[in-house]
Parts: sequence; structure tokens; C-alpha cells
Amino acid sequence: MMNTTLMNNQQTKVDTPYTRFLTTLNAVLDHMNADEEVRAIFEHPQHIHKKTVSLMRDDGSTEDYPAFRVQFNNARGPYKGGIRFHPEADLEEVKALSALMAIKTAVVDVPFGGAKGGIQCEPKGMSRKELEALSREYIRVMGDAIGPYTDCPAPDVNTNSMIMGWMRDEYETISGVFSPGVVTGKPLEYGGSQGRDEATARGGFFVLEEVLERAAIDPSEQRVAIQGFGNAGAAIAQFLHEKGYTIVALSDSKGGIYSREGIDPFRINKYKKKTGQVRGLYCEESICDAGRMQADGIELISPKDIITCDCDILVPAALDNVITARNAGDIKAEFILELANGPTTPEADAILEKKGVRVIPDVLANAGGVTVSYFEWTQGRSGEQWTADRVDSELKRIILGAYREVRREARREGLSYRHAAFLLGIKRMLKTMRVRGWCNGSC
Ligand code: NAD
Repeated sequence: MMNTTLMNNQQTKVDTPYTRFLTTLNAVLDHMNADEEVRAIFEHPQHIHKKTVSLMRDDGSTEDYPAFRVQFNNARGPYKGGIRFHPEADLEEVKALSALMAIKTAVVDVPFGGAKGGIQCEPKGMSRKELEALSREYIRVMGDAIGPYTDCPAPDVNTNSMIMGWMRDEYETISGVFSPGVVTGKPLEYGGSQGRDEATARGGFFVLEEVLERAAIDPSEQRVAIQGFGNAGAAIAQFLHEKGYTIVALSDSKGGIYSREGIDPFRINKYKKKTGQVRGLYCEESICDAGRMQADGIELISPKDIITCDCDILVPAALDNVITARNAGDIKAEFILELANGPTTPEADAILEKKGVRVIPDVLANAGGVTVSYFEWTQGRSGEQWTADRVDSELKRIILGAYREVRREARREGLSYRHAAFLLGIKRMLKTMRVRGWCNGSC
């Protein structure tokens, strides 16, 4: 009999973001009765670039960090996907995120493939000079893998428009060619698009509104908890608050707050900008002002506990693997809007489905970001500048169109929204591969 510790170790070892992606993928490929040739296409990324970036710190010391660019599939267009700077960004995570990008670009039907990048580092505490050096070095080491018609990065966790601006500048310096399309999510003054910063949240907001409208649910009666208060989380908190939803919980990596009476995310954002934490209005480091908290009906909550707090809508907007078999049974929300990539494990998905929780999956819910990246890329090619209203209405048209197709596919095939979105994305990718002659009739 196999030793249990060994068995458990082996099981732990094979549970990675990429194996979790493969579990969902295989469930959908089984549903399609896919043959070996089709399975082989989706099982591995097309290219994996693993390099080291060296950074000279301000104190003169040098540090090396692993850097990744994984190009999953480019059947439908240039590889596309964000770059994250995070201590836990490893190859398995970046592979999984690249695969999700390939499905996502096909779900919203924009002419891109899927890729993702990362540097395994702790960017918090780096000076602006260090961040700039790190961003430029990433472009230098990735060399020919990146390009406006090859592979176009974008922002993700701990990266932003300033970093994208440095990356474009570095690429243009090396290539000597004007290349606005090489990255998206750039500053407005340097080839960015109106609405890109808040696009991920905006797209999720449009889908959520449509889901609630169809279910005849009044937004003003909905209590929302949001994990993560960065680009995606802070923006959706503000959209929902403006629309009359009650934000009951917010968190970032340092901690969270909960209030039955509701939280004003604009006020929280002001203090987050000043202090660097969601709790900044109430706490200085770990010392909190009990009187101020009491006056606003605020309780402290851990970022982890926000997942199971009392709310109607849960929005994971931070990292992956936060809704698992351990906590899915305790989730109180009726709806989950996945602005984060990969927040829910396949085991948790099964538990949530049994409980009747409606999950709006990442490959649809957060596809607003890549949709507006596509608008930015086309504006870069044509030299046009779209108004904020045009960006907003085109985003709404595309993401709601994708939502309706996912919904139709789910009904027709008797699938969850996640599996239906995967099915839709895979079918679209296969259609293109077929006309390109990438598979011998089996796709
Ligand atoms: P960000 O760096 O702007 O914000 C991340 C937020 O998560 C921060 O508030 C951080 O404090 C918080 N966080 C980190 N670890 C946490 C933890 N353990 N518990 C609670 N909060 C924690 O990143 P972002 O761009 O907002 O990305 C957030 C998620 O959305 C990621 O999963 C990303 O892949 C996904 N996403 C982003 C975009 C985009 O355009 N930025 C597009 C699609 C999907």
C-alpha cells in the first residue's frame, strides 16, 4: 500500500494553477468527445520563455529574478496577455494564465491569441528607478518574442500604465521602429486608450447588471464584498456604489473592512492612496481608531474571511486559488463575479454548483480588459483616438454579446457558465485552426 504521506505529497505537488486549468479544459474536451489531436493542441503552450532579469538596486547591490513569457496559442492573432510582478509568479501560474487568455480572447471574439508574463519578485518597496530598470530589462531579455504583431503585453497584478509606457519606450529604442501596438494599457499621453484603466471592472459591471436584470433582482438590495482593491477591485467598487449597490466588505493584501451599513469606496480609495492600505481611514499600520470605526459601523475582517462573509455578490479581484473546497461550502453569496483570473478551483466549482451559487467565470467576467486593449491596439494602428463614450459603448456591445453566447451555449449543452465559455472559446479557436490547416480534419 502506498505511504499516505507520500501520496498526499504527490497530490499536493500536482495541484498547480495549470493542473487546475487542465481539469476544467479536460471536462470540456470530454463533453465535446475531442480526439487525441485536439487534446494535444490544448494541453501545452506553444512557447515558453524562461529567463533571468538582473536588477541593480539603489544601494548598488544586484538581484536576479526569474522572468517568464508563456505564449499559449496564436491561432486567432498575436499573443496577448498581461505581465505581473509578484513573489508567487512562477511558471505554472503564468502557463495557466496564458491558457485562460487564449480562451478569453476567443470568448469575446477579438483577433488575438493568449499569452502571459511575469517576474517573480516583490515590487513593493522598489523605488521608481528600480521599477523602471526592471520593466526595461524584461523587454530586453524577452527579445524577439515580443512585438506589435507577435506578442503584445498589458498590465496585470502590480503593473500599470507607467510600466507599460517604459516597456513601449524600451521596445522602440531597441527596434528603432514606432510601435504603439507593442503593449496596451499605456498612459493616455503615449498611445493609451480612454477607458483602459477601468475596462476590466467596467466589463464585469456590464455583465453583472445584465445577469441581475434577467433575474429581476434590484441592485439596490444587493450587498457586495470585494477581495482586492487594485485596478480591477477599486474600480468595480466605485461603479457599483454609484449604481446603488451596498458595498459591505473590501480588502487588499494588508487587511479588510466590513460594514453592514455599507462602505463608501471613494472615501476608502482616498485614504488607500495616502496610506497604501484599505484600512487606512481607520488604522495606522496595526493601530486602529476604535471610535472612528464604531461611528462608521466598521469591523476588521481578514482578506481570507472576506470570501465567506455575509453578502449577496462576491467579487474576487486579487489572486487565484482563493475559493477552494475548504471554503466553498461556507460561501453566503448568491453570485460570484470573477474579476481575478483563476480564483475558483474545479472542486470548489462543483460545490458551488450544488449550492446553486451562480458563478460568472473569469474568461467572461474580466474580459473587458483585453477588449479595450484591442481597441487601444487598433487605435495605435490607425492613429485614431476614440472618445470615452465610444470605448464604453463598444465594450458593452462586445461583452454583452459574449455573455449572451455563453448563456445560450450553457442552456443548449447543459453546462455551467465556465464550461460553456470554455466550449465557446475552444470551438472558435478550432474553427480558425481548421482553415489554417493546423489540424488534420479532427478539429
Ligand atoms: P492590482 O495589482 O492593481 O491589484 C491587486 C489587488 O489585490 C491589490 O489591492 C492587492 O493588495 C490585492 N491583493 C493581493 N494579494 C491579496 C490577498 N492575498 N488578499 C486580498 N487582496 C490581495 O491588480 P489588478 O490588475 O487589479 O488584478 C487583479 C486581478 O484581476 C488579477 O487576478 C488579474 O489577473 C485580474 N485581471 C486584471 C486585468 C487588468 O486589466 N488589470 C484584466 C483581467 C484580469
